[in-house]
Amino acid sequence: MGQAGRGRSEFEILGSGFIPPRTSRGCFDDPDAGGVEVGRDPPHLKPHWIEGGYRVRYAIVSDVHGNKEALDAVIERIGTLDCDEIICLGDIVGYGAEPGYCVERIREISKVVVAGNHDYAALGKINIDYFNAHARRATLWTREKLTPEQLQYLNDLPLVVNMGSFTVVHGSLESPELFDYIQTSYDAFLTMQKMQNSLCFIGHSHVPIAFLLKDVITFSLEPEVLLAGLAKVIVNVGSVGQPRDNNPLASFAVYDVKEARVDIHRIPYDIEKSAEKILEAGLPEFLAERLMVGR
Ligand code: ZN
Repeated sequence: MGQAGRGRSEFEILGSGFIPPRTSRGCFDDPDAGGVEVGRDPPHLKPHWIEGGYRVRYAIVSDVHGNKEALDAVIERIGTLDCDEIICLGDIVGYGAEPGYCVERIREISKVVVAGNHDYAALGKINIDYFNAHARRATLWTREKLTPEQLQYLNDLPLVVNMGSFTVVHGSLESPELFDYIQTSYDAFLTMQKMQNSLCFIGHSHVPIAFLLKDVITFSLEPEVLLAGLAKVIVNVGSVGQPRDNNPLASFAVYDVKEARVDIHRIPYDIEKSAEKILEAGLPEFLAERLMVGR
């Protein structure tokens, strides 16, 4: 990954770039507002990067749910997309047959990872009584499969990470620990009120969608989100391992900071193999079937 010719030290500067939150209430293309500026580099980039014409591209994955085949396919594709960092929005485990593999792989490739409700459930950190029967059974199965080290890794994940020019969270910023869904404009409004910058990436619903604030909040199901002219944007990147928008293809996003755009990518993977493993593991049949139809 990374651009040809880029030195390792530059990657490390970016990788450790947790910069203090900035307050922004303006538009992406309003330089006085302190937001992300279109056509310029974000404030945390070193000046020599700007001179060298570097850009920054983040790959953002979510809701892997123990699906090895989907995760491997997505990582392979990301490798061709010239991305600088991979960010993971949680729910690494739960539902799928390879939770341990997915925890290890995410730990390897991603320095910025937040916890999802299924990660917390595997740890016994949240009450799973409200989960449906399939999810509950899968959670108890997953808990048995993870090593103490893998559980510790999940336990140490934060709920929210502020990257400076954008924020990442699994469910919502309104109350991250409750894992609320953002499905309506009002839900989006509540999170936008808590955003300290102009852009927030979420997962959780397994449906890729963007909520856009200009004068009012609207939503878009288009695979490309252009940020220019918008005051605030929430992008749900969809699910790698269990899409639920009637499209079984694995979903993830690429955020190009300089271009001020987010693209949702959908890619095929060996669904049958993942489904087979779920059945072989004795997990509910429904969890295998839903992969085929993306629901
Ligand atoms: Zn999920």
